[in-house]
Amino acid sequence: MIEASDLHKYFGQFHAVRGISLQVAAGQVLALLGPNGAGKTTTVRMLSAILKPNRGSARVAGHDVTVEPQVVRHKVGLLTEYPGLYARMTAVDYLLFFGELQGLHRSESAARAADLLKRFDLWAARDRKLDGYSKGMKQKVALIRAMLHDPDVLFLDEPTTAMDPQSARTVRDAIADLRDSRRAIVLCTHNLTEAEALADYIAVVRDGQIVAEGTEYQLTKQLLGDPLWEVRTTRVLNGEVADIGRMVQIEDYGDTWLRYRTSQPEETNPSLLRRLHTAGTPVVSLSEVPRSLESVYLRIIGETQPERMAGVPDGEEVPA
Ligand code: ATP
Repeated sequence: MIEASDLHKYFGQFHAVRGISLQVAAGQVLALLGPNGAGKTTTVRMLSAILKPNRGSARVAGHDVTVEPQVVRHKVGLLTEYPGLYARMTAVDYLLFFGELQGLHRSESAARAADLLKRFDLWAARDRKLDGYSKGMKQKVALIRAMLHDPDVLFLDEPTTAMDPQSARTVRDAIADLRDSRRAIVLCTHNLTEAEALADYIAVVRDGQIVAEGTEYQLTKQLLGDPLWEVRTTRVLNGEVADIGRMVQIEDYGDTWLRYRTSQPEETNPSLLRRLHTAGTPVVSLSEVPRSLESVYLRIIGETQPERMAGVPDGEEVPA
């Protein structure tokens, strides 16, 4: 649904995106993570045909973003970080106007808008002017605008930043529903819990390049090693520690607990439990120690410090 190959973007002499390639299939959420100024928004703007790449190519919903930018813009839903809304319009008028721009019939726009305004708890405020809306309310209207024409592809740049926890939850549920209905979604976020909850695949962008990518499981294993396990016992561990150390890599231990790594928990954990049982050491619990995406992310960002190159553009700077 989304295929990008070697995308580059220069702003004057500044090389903001330096060879990004990615793929997102229908029914998948790709989370783009990365520090401020990494190039996530610029990538999304190129993929949604708002900004023309200087080099590289991308096809979105079957259309080339450079050859058919107008078609791509109609095919995608875009939520930008700072959505410009028409402040003097009411939410309903704004959405009907936007539906018309997208070529929807008025009745269709009205029905979709009503549905979404109710879902995002804006129905009671539908006839108020947008300049009286709070930040979070504006963000919700912008999200409704992105979803109004029921696009196959959605680009959501920081969709929940301004929202209260309950609204953020509603938005995350909406994103999960979109994924279930086979939409392809690119989500830029600094909220790692959000990425953990929604992303099928994660790409970490730094200095205009993808510096790490994979599923959360793959990235965790790659960056933090084999899963960490913890066994807790009711009796003080003595001779068992040396015994267990021959089976697994022990990371740390105390009187009644022990942490270890194993690449084959299916085999190792049952035999470790058997060993403890035979030694007469009752086990209270054996569990995997949770590892957060945050620690993976910080490891990636800490380890990858490519040199910043400000090159001379290969192509002309093309305004949005
Ligand atoms: P954030 O997480 O802060 O939103 P980001 O990863 O989305 O950051 P971008 O907005 O893509 O980052 O910006 C990438 C780099 O390109 C930044 O250094 C930014 O200053 C620069 N940049 C973006 N848009 C322009 C522009 N229109 N003109 C000049 N430089 C720009």
